[in-house]
Amino acid sequence: MLEKEKTEIYTAEEKNAAAGKTWQQWEQQVPVTGRIRRLEEACWVNPDKKSFEEAAARCELSMEDVMDASRRLERFAPYFQEAFPETAAAGGMIESPLMEAVKMKEIMEQKEGAAIPGRLWVKLDSHLPVSGSIKARGGIYEVLKTAEDIALSHGLISEETDYRIFDSPEMKRLLSEYSIAVGSTGNLGLSIGIMSARLGFRVTVHMSADARQWKKDMLRSKGVAVKEYESDYSTAVEEGRRLAQKDPHCHFVDDENSKTLFLGYSVAALRLKKQLEQEQITVDAAHPLFVYLPCGVGGGPGGVAFGLKQVFGDAVHCFFAEPTHSCCMMLGMATGLNNQISVQDFGIDNKTVADGLAVGRASGFVGRLMRPFMSGCYSLDDSRMYRMLAWLADSEGIYLEPSALAGMYGPVLMAKDPDFRAYGKAAGGAGALNGSTQLVWATGGSMVPPGEMKEYYEKGKKNSLLV
Ligand SMILES: *Cc1c(COP(=O)(O)O)cnc(C)c1O
Repeated sequence: MLEKEKTEIYTAEEKNAAAGKTWQQWEQQVPVTGRIRRLEEACWVNPDKKSFEEAAARCELSMEDVMDASRRLERFAPYFQEAFPETAAAGGMIESPLMEAVKMKEIMEQKEGAAIPGRLWVKLDSHLPVSGSIKARGGIYEVLKTAEDIALSHGLISEETDYRIFDSPEMKRLLSEYSIAVGSTGNLGLSIGIMSARLGFRVTVHMSADARQWKKDMLRSKGVAVKEYESDYSTAVEEGRRLAQKDPHCHFVDDENSKTLFLGYSVAALRLKKQLEQEQITVDAAHPLFVYLPCGVGGGPGGVAFGLKQVFGDAVHCFFAEPTHSCCMMLGMATGLNNQISVQDFGIDNKTVADGLAVGRASGFVGRLMRPFMSGCYSLDDSRMYRMLAWLADSEGIYLEPSALAGMYGPVLMAKDPDFRAYGKAAGGAGALNGSTQLVWATGGSMVPPGEMKEYYEKGKKNSLLV
């Protein structure tokens, strides 16, 4: 609902209401909504989480879907080696490093006065090739699947074809008759735009007002059409979807509902399993894996968490992390209303420095599908993201964008927050927290221009002095 409508048509009492209940009624029924509304940092443990077996039995997607996506990416690997030489060393796989952060753990323990359980690891999706954020997983995957479907329907390939054919003039000519469109706060636009343009598609990115100028500039330099909107992410998506529907040759990447995107993200779990094995890290009941995922609309973190549950079952525990001003997933899950409620309904402005997380209404598909799998959600202040950004840069020499630090607060909460601690202790039996792996999903940052990164870092330093 538009803000203007709300003030003009509704009485004062109705204004302080969401989905048919007053804010006070909501707070009595679902206490965390009080903290959410007051913009206080909050933690929520999911009371509806089920055992993996029970959750998986009722789920419309399965391990076979994850494997299918993985095989598709393998078919494209030879193409990537050629088209994006930076992927050649990894055999054409778009994958990121896994890093232990011993010094960062020390800094956080000292600054926060808390003993973080287990070992602290960071999954550096910030350093994924091609588009430098977690969107390089789902976004690129959906573009590839679209290209593959078109090529198959025109008889240009079979499953045995060498996919380097996708770099041929013939294929580019075919794909140039099709277009791709997406609505984005920035990073999804980058990933879809870069990949689509390289394959020869015509591509339009519908961008919300909060998108950074450098992202728009970079896309335009690659021949991508960028349409800008005054309003927020949901409107850009809505308008993009509407325009795309008129054109039968246009594929709209639907960030809020796409199972293809979701499955593209889920493949990360198969890759992570190998990396953990290489590091000789055990994941089982006595050595649980806790994973903290920055969440916007939910497809990226939801897809990764879905894959992780398929791979590690009850031994993995996944949490969504969001800014206090945009904690739409926590609100949707805690109230049980998923995408039928937005942070704006609680008078929250959806303004955050965290690119990719400025989403006021979560994906209904992800909220529903992930309900029996997720362990919980939490929110944190932007200022905390800045502080941790500077600590990580100082301790490990790794520079991330603010949103990518949202997950970093999870291990601290596992030490400090009574509800999370109780959950953690119950998760793996006595001592399991000490044997745990705390994994922070670092979702973006390597493509941020140095000047912007310097500003982020300096804000973080200043912020750190104030505490
Ligand atoms: C998009 C994004 C996320 C969250 O992904 P969603 O699918 O929107 O939930 C997290 N971090 C960064 C840096 C992103 O760009």
